[in-house]
Amino acid sequence: MKSNIINKADKVIAATYKRFPLVLTKGKGCNVWDEEGRSYTDFVAGIAVCNLGHSHPNIAKAVASQAQALVHVSNLYYTRPQTEVASWLVEKSFADKVFFCNSGAEANEAAIKIARKYFKDKGENARYHIIAMEQSFHGRTMATLSATGQEKIRQGFDPILAGFEFVPFGDIDALVKKVGPATCAVLTEPIQGEGGVRCPPPDYLKAVRKLCDEVGALLIFDEIQTGMGRTGKLFAYEHFDTEPDIMTLAKALANGLPMGAMLAKDFVAGAFSPGSHASTFGGTPLVTAGALAVLKTIFEDRIIEYSRKIGDYFIQRLLWLKERHDIIEEVRGCGLLLGLKLRIEGDPVVYECMQKGFLINCIQGNVLRFVPPLIITKEEIDALVECLDEVLAA
Ligand SMILES: *Cc1c(COP(=O)(O)O)cnc(C)c1O
Repeated sequence: MKSNIINKADKVIAATYKRFPLVLTKGKGCNVWDEEGRSYTDFVAGIAVCNLGHSHPNIAKAVASQAQALVHVSNLYYTRPQTEVASWLVEKSFADKVFFCNSGAEANEAAIKIARKYFKDKGENARYHIIAMEQSFHGRTMATLSATGQEKIRQGFDPILAGFEFVPFGDIDALVKKVGPATCAVLTEPIQGEGGVRCPPPDYLKAVRKLCDEVGALLIFDEIQTGMGRTGKLFAYEHFDTEPDIMTLAKALANGLPMGAMLAKDFVAGAFSPGSHASTFGGTPLVTAGALAVLKTIFEDRIIEYSRKIGDYFIQRLLWLKERHDIIEEVRGCGLLLGLKLRIEGDPVVYECMQKGFLINCIQGNVLRFVPPLIITKEEIDALVECLDEVLAA
């Protein structure tokens, strides 16, 4: 029987999501529970958001105590949690300055705006073209969907923003042909998430960096999905020995509290001055107190080292599955951003797994994506693999 909540929701909530008939009420660690009290092991984690799992005590405590002290003041004033988070991010990354906002799309908006303004400030008015990748995903606002290399996401919203061009991800020759004196920036995810968990060829990002330097263009990494330990490093760019000039974060930054950030080197960051850009809710004491608890926990509990090890284990198990099932075409990804490309539609598999108590998701029609909390255990992975083994055989 359909839950009351589902009937009610379908009447009043905009139908922008194809939802599963599941009403979730509670989460703890890598598990969530539905209205009937059934539990599910969560390999979606709010789409690579809840990296420390659900209801983490450190975060719950930090947020509760901050809620009693100060939830929000304007960015007309300074606050300690916002300052501490920015200091952490600067210390642990290539960047010198941080701009806080509320979502991934908003972080990419800031990146696009600052890249354009950087060249305007230098008097290079025609230099506003941004080259992005086919099959990329950068968000749903007008600027970020204009930067997204997927026709289905842009469709119906013409005219999109001018100045975006696309090349195939991983194809350095195509990029060489496209860049020029009008190129303001190259924008890419180090590993494509929504596009199907696609890793770049070895040395591709290094070559992109070199090319940007040669033509004087900025390099922007969208690490909204790959950042915060998801790929087995704090930031995915560390795998590729390649630093960007600008990077965007969101998703796991505050483990589910709405928070985004745009990080930049000083020479670019100077393009934003008082009045250039703003966000009412950007970096409130509440969300930054949550983010600070996230950062502390990641380092104190050595979560990144753990996620790298457990990610390697997970890949081995997925490769084992591939040996057993012809309908698996490829195992993709690294750390705990993993995908299984199937030769069949993925949705029925996702549905079957849900019936058996596992939440996974499917992207691009036939890629099963696994982005569990980084604290997932071997036993939980084994249980999912066993479930997939049964479902794929059926
Ligand atoms: C999720 C995602 C976004 C968009 O983030 P929102 O918070 O939904 O706006 C942008 N880029 C990448 C790589 C993402 O995975």
